[in-house]
Amino acid sequence: MAEQTPENLVIIGSGPAAWTAALYAARANLDPLVYEGEPSRQMIPGGQLMWTTDIENYPGFPEGIGGQELMDRMKRQAVQFGTRVEMENITEVDFSGHPLRLKPSFSDWVEARAVVIASGARANWIGLPNEERLARTGGGVSACAVCDGAMPFYRDRVLAVVGGGDSAMEEATYLTKFASEVVIIHRRDSFRASKVMADRALADPKIRVEWNTSVVDVVGDDFITGLRLRDRITGAEREMEVGGLFVAIGHTPNTDFLKGQVELTPNGYVKTPYAWRTATSVPALFVCGDVMDDYYRQAVTAAGTGCMAALEAERWLAHHGVEQAKPPVLETAQSSVGQGEPIG
Ligand code: NAP
Repeated sequence: MAEQTPENLVIIGSGPAAWTAALYAARANLDPLVYEGEPSRQMIPGGQLMWTTDIENYPGFPEGIGGQELMDRMKRQAVQFGTRVEMENITEVDFSGHPLRLKPSFSDWVEARAVVIASGARANWIGLPNEERLARTGGGVSACAVCDGAMPFYRDRVLAVVGGGDSAMEEATYLTKFASEVVIIHRRDSFRASKVMADRALADPKIRVEWNTSVVDVVGDDFITGLRLRDRITGAEREMEVGGLFVAIGHTPNTDFLKGQVELTPNGYVKTPYAWRTATSVPALFVCGDVMDDYYRQAVTAAGTGCMAALEAERWLAHHGVEQAKPPVLETAQSSVGQGEPIG
């Protein structure tokens, strides 16, 4: 058990939701502490935007902005007002009492009067080495058509979408605005998607489906040029020329560390029992961003819910008589995404 005074507010995560929550909390003198996570093969601090090249739909950046730069700016803005940052994962929590308790990977348990979970979700990938490489380098492989589909290099090209759920239908339909043709590649002979969305995709003259087909390799050096496909019935392999690949095989919310400590939805996202609120089933615990959202999944909606979570946490703390710690410290901002050391 930690001996120290409990933190006012601990925020878990490092995407747009986390940094926006931190910015609001820091400016409200709550002296927030962010656990931004550790870099690993699957995860890097900064969240899913660290995988995106240019973001053209985040308001305020008419020329677009790189995903890493946007995260760097958001972090600097939060740190500038006194947010403290630790580069550790939270591996375990104990929400059975109050203060809430959190276990960072390398340090002792931390206590907090309020916690905001902003740990995000991760897009599922097929798991092919070239898929990962080209997704990381902006080489025409993406897990978000709404984020990336309008890029000029996808215009009038044949674009492939992998998956058979609602996301795949939605991505395929969206991409018909730009593509010469959209090919849905699905591993079975029927869609999992809702009938209305599947029917809409199937009725679109620009969409065709490769049924019972798996992608076994992504072809291209700096940019995707094609896919290697395998017919799952005959086993036959062939190559298909494409100008882009959109993987839409679901998302996994990052909730492993919560292990039965807070109520989740049937899809595994953190449940918010009240509409338009970020409160959870646990008092003093709030949630924002993609770990609570399987519907919008946009940077701007994540940032919006981050603001909501900080405001709700602030009101909860005020209501429960928690004094605000100290005036915000305005430090000279330095780029520190991936550095992790506290600046403020
Ligand atoms: P999903 O429903 O879980 O569908 C994932 C699809 O990907 C399935 O067709 C699955 O194939 C396929 N798949 C999974 N792993 C694969 C792999 N390794 N290789 C190839 N294919 C693979 O996920 P989702 O489409 O993202 O939807 C998630 C939830 O969000 C659903 O509840 C959905 O209704 C909802 N959603 C709603 C909307 C909307 O209403 N506008 C839009 C998007 C999502 P199998 O079918 O063979 O398992």
